[in-house]
Amino acid sequence: MPYLILSDIHANIEALSAVMAEAAGRFDKILCLGDLVGYGADPNAVTKWARENAAAVVRGNHDRACCARESLDDYRPAAAASAIWTNEQLSEENLAYLDRLPRGPLRYDDFDLSHGSPADEDEYVMTVMDAARLRDSLGAQVTFFGHTHLQGGFLVTRQSAKRIEPQTAIEIEADHFYLINPGSVGQPRDGDARAAYAIYSPERHLIEFCRANYDIEKAAAKVRAAGLPESLAQRLFTGT
Ligand code: ZN
Repeated sequence: MPYLILSDIHANIEALSAVMAEAAGRFDKILCLGDLVGYGADPNAVTKWARENAAAVVRGNHDRACCARESLDDYRPAAAASAIWTNEQLSEENLAYLDRLPRGPLRYDDFDLSHGSPADEDEYVMTVMDAARLRDSLGAQVTFFGHTHLQGGFLVTRQSAKRIEPQTAIEIEADHFYLINPGSVGQPRDGDARAAYAIYSPERHLIEFCRANYDIEKAAAKVRAAGLPESLAQRLFTGT
């Protein structure tokens, strides 16, 4: 059974729609690694879509922040402004759904779903060192994570870790552990502005990294029309 693995959609319904159109017919279930909302202009549409379509979702820091459950002191001004705006926009039922999302890591079949690191949902797994340190925190051979908005991941062996570049599909080998980031659907930061996602086929021991073109102009125009910070519109074009 292939899975569509999505992370960091960030209220970008244009990017999400493009991914769903491109990946159609290639998966059985949809799994999300958090940050459904924040930054983008369509928090209600994306949350409703997740409620109706995702088989499992773990919460991200922006999902928490947009439920007004915590101080925004640690957030940059644009992120804090979008969290406040998002909280005002969200319907009662969408807020309640986001508020109930489970904290990762969440076991799904025989793999794990996490927003940040499996040791700490708010921790960024950026470097080979970060990944190597997590060796004992990995509860499954394959752990999917997000939060960094960087597609790719790490191969973790008993002794070390190695970066996995996202250009190609990778084959899961026995005796190795994998930390895999599908990239961000709605706000990529790896220099590629296209929406990022991954497809995991356990029977084929295969993870494919994919990118979809989407209507960035439209998503950015909505960000501006909502009165959200201009930087949140601009970065969509550069993927940074
Ligand atoms: Zn995010």
